Amino acid sequence: MGLTAAIQRQSRRSYRLSQLSLFGAITASGAILLSDHTAAPVTMSALLSMTAIAGSMFTLHHARRGIYQRLQEAGSAEAERQRLLQSDAVTGAMTRRHFLETLEIALKRATKTPTSLLLIDIDYFKQLNDSLGHAAGDAALVHTVACLRQAFPDCAVGRLGGDEFAVFVNDRSLAWCEEQARKFLALISRPFRYSGFDISLSVSVGAASSVDRQLDMAGLSQNADLALYASKTSGRGRVTLFDEVMLSERRHVRYLERELRAALYLDHLELHYQPVVDTHGVARAMEGLVRWRHPVRGLIPPGEFIPVAETSTLIDQLGEWVFRRACRDLPRFDGCRISINISGEQLKRDSVVAMMERVLRETGSAAADFVIEITETVATEATDDVVNRLDRLRALGFRIALDDFGTGHCGFNYLKTLPIDAIKIDRSYICNLGSDRVAQVLVSALAEVGRLRGITIVAEGVETAQDLQLAKAAGCDRFQGFFISRPVPLAAAAATLPAAKGDPQALSA
Ligand code: C2E
Ligand code: MG
Ligand code: MG
Repeated sequence: MGLTAAIQRQSRRSYRLSQLSLFGAITASGAILLSDHTAAPVTMSALLSMTAIAGSMFTLHHARRGIYQRLQEAGSAEAERQRLLQSDAVTGAMTRRHFLETLEIALKRATKTPTSLLLIDIDYFKQLNDSLGHAAGDAALVHTVACLRQAFPDCAVGRLGGDEFAVFVNDRSLAWCEEQARKFLALISRPFRYSGFDISLSVSVGAASSVDRQLDMAGLSQNADLALYASKTSGRGRVTLFDEVMLSERRHVRYLERELRAALYLDHLELHYQPVVDTHGVARAMEGLVRWRHPVRGLIPPGEFIPVAETSTLIDQLGEWVFRRACRDLPRFDGCRISINISGEQLKRDSVVAMMERVLRETGSAAADFVIEITETVATEATDDVVNRLDRLRALGFRIALDDFGTGHCGFNYLKTLPIDAIKIDRSYICNLGSDRVAQVLVSALAEVGRLRGITIVAEGVETAQDLQLAKAAGCDRFQGFFISRPVPLAAAAATLPAAKGDPQALSA
């Protein structure tokens, strides 16, 4: 029963009670007057009855006023409840639920006319929140909704999640939506002032229409989502319209996913190793890099299948396979740690910590023999939960390395807060050390930070003797790259390991 209905019922009950008592009083006084009609002066009992009537009338009047007041209060409480259910408290946009319900109704009605759905994501919203605070984040959300309303007048604007918004447009072509979306991008890129800062936002937009395919809500949302994904992966800050090709790409991803599942089952995966050496050329760690030996396509590099695995929990299985294999191979690398790469997707789930603990237990391995590499984007987008998982892994004894440093937006301030033991400087800086002043300054500054904070600095992608020499001069502690060795299968990596101690080039394949 709704709040209003409950109050109304309660009010009606007290109103009826008052009515009953009045009716009782009138009946009682009438009876008394009738029985006493012979007496000339008004008897005491009649007087009492009259007083009772007056009292009841007074009560009734008050009950009525109370009822009206309570009904009014109930009405506004109900309106407030509805408002909270329907509109987002921060931005005033429709809540997710209300938006989707409204969209569903609109789609059912509009059987002949197009209904378009636009999905909008604010780019780098987390970084904005982290650097300027949540109030600035809220101001950005409000600004986004204001710009959406300006670009899409008379259309429904909803907030679907943290920094995700949606607009649905009735009876307009997709071309119109695209034009308005471009206006929206222009509007939102103009800086807005917040607490002395000029903030300019960038957003990614995906749009799809139901017109020709008569899609239901799930189909329309899926298509708009594919278009949004395309916007995000092709550089953000843009509008993408859904295209049928996206569906076939999705089918291709599904196909790869099925094949990869089979590969895991059939043991078609391999872990290759690439050494990480110290300033004397002594191998201190082996980075395990996964490869897929496809029966028809040959050796497939991880760049092709890791992103596919990351779209499902397949990445968890793959991650477990890699760690298990690394535990099995560890005794082959006397005195070396093994470094393994962990996907940001794995770190989104608590199960990763339990899995690592379980594998250690089952294989009798020690966490201290392993380094977990996380990429810089994982670090910059890390939620409190992710940081907590990293802390727990570190407490188990794993070392944590920040991989591909310099490719994302990881400022030096992150280095203070993240639980890390090593930083691997991306290849793009190392190969430019000879010519690029920025690269030289960054690498030297990082080496300094590393010295002060006890963090090991690894130079990745060392391809030439000059790269090695400059990275050493800049203060790096460890070196990895084709100049030292390419990633090679276990047997080759283990066989050449002692040689690497004296001569880095001995491992080059
Ligand atoms: P990463 O962790 O940064 O690994 C280093 C990549 O750079 C490897 O590519 C390696 O072959 C390549 N590399 C090493 N030295 C040089 C060099 O001197 N020059 C050049 N041009 N490249 C060099 P690979 O094996 O294709 O791996 C690519 C990425 O795939 C890895 O980057 C890592 O992010 C991911 N990856 C590899 N194995 C796994 C895995 O088991 N799990 C997960 N989640 N990701 C993995
Ligand atoms: Mg790595
Ligand atoms: Mg790397």
